Amino acid sequence: MTMLTLYDTMARHKRPFEPIDPDRVTMYVCGPTVYNYAHIGNARPAVVFDVLSRLLRHIYGADKVIYARNITDVDDKIIDASKQTGKSIDEITSHFGEIYRQDVGALGVAMPDIEPHATDHIGEMIDMIQRLIDTGHAYEAEGHVLFSVSSYEKYGKLSRRSLDDMIAGARVEVAPYKKDPGDFVLWKPAADGDPGWESPFGRGRPGWHLECSAMSEKHLGETFDIHGGGADLVFPHHENEIAQSVCAHGGKTMANYWLHNGFLTMGTDKMSKSLGNVQLIHDLAKEWPGEVLRYALLTAHYRAPLTWTADLLAKTRRSLDRIYGVLRRLSDVEVAEVDVPEIFLAPMLDDLNTPKALSALFQITAEANKAETPEAKAQAKAQLLAAGKLIGLAQGDPDEWFGLTDLDPSEREKIDGLIEARNRARAEKDWTLADQVRDELNALNVQVDDGPEGSTWRKRG
Ligand code: AMP
Ligand code: ZN
Repeated sequence: MTMLTLYDTMARHKRPFEPIDPDRVTMYVCGPTVYNYAHIGNARPAVVFDVLSRLLRHIYGADKVIYARNITDVDDKIIDASKQTGKSIDEITSHFGEIYRQDVGALGVAMPDIEPHATDHIGEMIDMIQRLIDTGHAYEAEGHVLFSVSSYEKYGKLSRRSLDDMIAGARVEVAPYKKDPGDFVLWKPAADGDPGWESPFGRGRPGWHLECSAMSEKHLGETFDIHGGGADLVFPHHENEIAQSVCAHGGKTMANYWLHNGFLTMGTDKMSKSLGNVQLIHDLAKEWPGEVLRYALLTAHYRAPLTWTADLLAKTRRSLDRIYGVLRRLSDVEVAEVDVPEIFLAPMLDDLNTPKALSALFQITAEANKAETPEAKAQAKAQLLAAGKLIGLAQGDPDEWFGLTDLDPSEREKIDGLIEARNRARAEKDWTLADQVRDELNALNVQVDDGPEGSTWRKRG
């Protein structure tokens, strides 16, 4: 098997992936802040890192991978939402946490092995802050604890920014109690009535960046293999995570590979709540099968931008029609045990090149359609399913995909007969007959879609 290579943001190039321990491959991905519905841009990292976790499990074994994706359940935005709605913080975060799990679950995203919640790790965060203070990397000021960026020589290495750039870009908050404008908050005082925890630094709550450092340390160790998230997290979030973890761990590397997905865009703009151009996963999943949304998110390479359009979804649905159409035709074929085909696996191993892998999936689909002998059919169908499983597609019931499960068997047989008659007429270029049959199908409320692998049909409505 070819080796897995991954583009590492820290190195700025693709590197062969070598885990610290192949029996315990570790990945941490920054998860959602749960105060609202997630949009389809937020689903991109969930799907991309779900695919990567499947690939890692394929290579190292299902039980050899530990994938942690956190839940941020304490944050200014959550507190604001609580004030606005009058609902308790717990109520909001458990409600939207559950919605998030269901929404990305509908896109075929498996639960991570560990889903740490920030509020369950306040003790670990306080402990980490104390270590940073004790080693001269953090200081207390006016109820805050701040990380001193000048205490960490390599600060800015991931994002390749100098402190001056950061300050000039006004990306850092200037505050009178900071020794250096680039210093960031590890602990901040809680206003009366706001959620807070007692600590040696006063009643307060942790800074967002600290959560991931404390939770990854606890669940994955001081140094782990892969850290992922969206490209907007490189600075300041991941830069600050690195500073905290490296300094709390006596200079040890935090993660050996840093992976970042590109933005999902509407036109040229990033989809984001602040721009107000969002489409919620929750709404899209009512209109489209989750598999269409998942597939659409994988049509671009994960590091490239992905333009989200209605046309993309329609096209994706037709692609899945082709795959499920062939699977339907082969529904009586018993599958054999096979390896994931090389033409599909190779692009996946090449920094998760999903567009290339999906085009290989089509090649496999076309071959499955052409297979003639029972052995060839069994082999081809098995290959299609094995490739599909690795990327989390084409595992459903073809009848269900086309909405045929509730159909009366005799009606179904009749429709299948008409489809066949139409195909024959078309093959013989008898267009009049073909149109006649199409009208008959129309009268039965059947929509026929012609594709390179033949025609598929579904009931309308
Ligand atoms: P947020 O709730 O904004 O912290 O985002 C949660 C995750 O979604 C982070 O990993 C972000 O980087 C990612 N994300 C947010 N917006 C987009 C977008 N338009 N395209 C891709 N990823 C995004
Ligand atoms: Zn994080």
